[in-house]
Amino acid sequence: MVHNFNAGPSVLPKTVFEQASQAILNFNNTGLSILEIGHRTSLFQNVMDEAIALVKELMQLDSNREVLFLHGGASTQFFQVPMNLLSEGETGAYLDCGTWGTKAIKEAKVFGNVDVVASSKDKNYSYIPKGYTIPAQAKYFHYTSNNTIEGTQMHSIPDSPVPLVADMSSDILSAVLDFNRFDLIYAGAQKNIGAAGVNLVIVNKEILGKVNRKLPSMMDYQQHIANGSMLNTPPVFAVYVCLLTLRWLKEQGGVAAIEKINNKKSELIYNTLDSLPVFKPTVAKEDRSKMNVVFSMENPELEKDFLDLCKKEGMVGIKGHRTVGGFRVSLYNALPLSSVEALTELMKHFALQHA
Ligand SMILES: *Cc1c(COP(=O)(O)O)cnc(C)c1O
Repeated sequence: MVHNFNAGPSVLPKTVFEQASQAILNFNNTGLSILEIGHRTSLFQNVMDEAIALVKELMQLDSNREVLFLHGGASTQFFQVPMNLLSEGETGAYLDCGTWGTKAIKEAKVFGNVDVVASSKDKNYSYIPKGYTIPAQAKYFHYTSNNTIEGTQMHSIPDSPVPLVADMSSDILSAVLDFNRFDLIYAGAQKNIGAAGVNLVIVNKEILGKVNRKLPSMMDYQQHIANGSMLNTPPVFAVYVCLLTLRWLKEQGGVAAIEKINNKKSELIYNTLDSLPVFKPTVAKEDRSKMNVVFSMENPELEKDFLDLCKKEGMVGIKGHRTVGGFRVSLYNALPLSSVEALTELMKHFALQHA
């Protein structure tokens, strides 16, 4: 038995793997593989249409919000966002609350001015900055909703006088939010939505078309919207895996139902960590992520022992990010509660041994 706590690419539902495998051999009883059908056939058009419709349904998006499946990962959005929203000399406001947000800031500077409204760099991004002001003259405000590497998460949507942009790569569809408060949301698929190779972008079309630079077609959200995410060959298989995962999520009862399970998973592991003095959660309590649980040990010399024990018991992917150290346990939608139960039992066992 393997318990997959990988941070991304990460666990997906077993049924998704089964269905995706079947589609490689024989897609919808066509005798063809999903890998060999034209993207402009009705076979694939149906996949794209259903995936987009499911995103709109699961996130309860209004009619201004367009759903796109694009190439390039979330890292491409770091520059595609400012390219589309920021003319030279204009300013984008950014919250600097983790490694990924820092990268978004770096890329935005290529296209305009960046106003970092607050940063938690002073404490290695172990908390979410609060009490900052978003300048009304900024073109947009960008933040990372869940800091995958450091293990912090925004637990409320900031009030913003300007369009709101969020990198939701590692917590999209994990909890109910008013997604219509955002003007642009992006997420690499490989954490909560599907396979690596595709990006989900949700954009309020009202904010587009205002920038004065010329955009390469592949970088222009408006052209992608006009072409239904098929400006060129989309990542066909990755989109299909998204569709299967979205169907699975709907079968679970949608975002509200998965949120309940996600809450149980994160409560169980944080309660366990708090009750066992050998372990040391590393981020501010009120900002703890429900997706990526980061902790270390009071005695760093024990870390290798715990890692070895986890390995022996089939716990995969709990080593912390190389820049943070310690441990990181990722609890994405498809991770079953039983995996968290198994891990917390192991933690208790380890703590007893090393009390
Ligand atoms: C993983 C991740 C990224 C990077 O995604 P790529 O698809 O590798 O570009 C960006 N932001 C966040 C919050 C992430 O978790």
